[in-house]
Amino acid sequence: MLRDVNPKKFLGQHFLIDDNISKKIVETINFKKFKKVIEIGPGKGALTKHLLHIKDILTLIEIDKESVEFLNSEFQEEKLNIIEADFLKFDMGSTYPSEKDILIIGNFPYNISSQILFKSVENYESVGGLIGMFQKEVAERIISKNNCKQYGILSVKTQLFYDTKILFNVSPNVFFPKPNVESAVVSLTRKRNLTIDCDLNQLDRVIKLSFQQRRKKLKNSLKKLDIQENILEDSIFELRPEQLTIEEFVKLTKKVSNETV
Ligand code: SAH
Repeated sequence: MLRDVNPKKFLGQHFLIDDNISKKIVETINFKKFKKVIEIGPGKGALTKHLLHIKDILTLIEIDKESVEFLNSEFQEEKLNIIEADFLKFDMGSTYPSEKDILIIGNFPYNISSQILFKSVENYESVGGLIGMFQKEVAERIISKNNCKQYGILSVKTQLFYDTKILFNVSPNVFFPKPNVESAVVSLTRKRNLTIDCDLNQLDRVIKLSFQQRRKKLKNSLKKLDIQENILEDSIFELRPEQLTIEEFVKLTKKVSNETV
């Protein structure tokens, strides 16, 4: 029987040690909306133990062998579905080909939390919602609106598909080992009438190029896209990326692709 897990820094292991916070996170969830729940990085099960009532639809994805062994002995009777894998390499499409209502939950490792977010957002057709612990500064970038200095790729890519909010802030004291940063729990809810009527790959390129040089006007940052002169006359190209709303990024992409808007 494995009694404990040595925290591994390189895996971003900061275990939640205040059970009230774990409870508070799980209590925010309306489980009726979801057919499948994936917890990323369950560690020693701080959140998992509050998810046992939905164990039939729960899957845990944990990269750390030692944690997986711990969980297997801790939850021996519950027979949880634990996959030892790197979530970033996990093929969601082929594992859940027709699932539309997955909830992703986790106290995410800080070093890869943005990548976890991007991966979830890329799978927006199957991921209906996400509740996750992020470094506070990252959380603020996720929910930021245009004309704010935190507004950037994380905000735009997420808010294209999801309504976002910070549920509450979390102090470093509730973790062991204690992280150097403040944290916040963020919730993502997939938008109801999701219609993005432009090419998503092109949209991705436009967002990336725009924010690579966030001080520059769009007409300069988007030069690589070989936009026709007459299209460049549109006043939108005089703006800087942080001025554009989510909808305007879609509009911009259509203009760049020479579609009538
Ligand atoms: N949920 C637990 C642990 C959080 S620490 C708690 O709240 O106490 C972050 C967890 O993510 C660790 O268990 C770590 O091993 C795991 N992890 C790190 N990188 C991962 C990856 N790429 N895929 C899956 N799990 C990962």
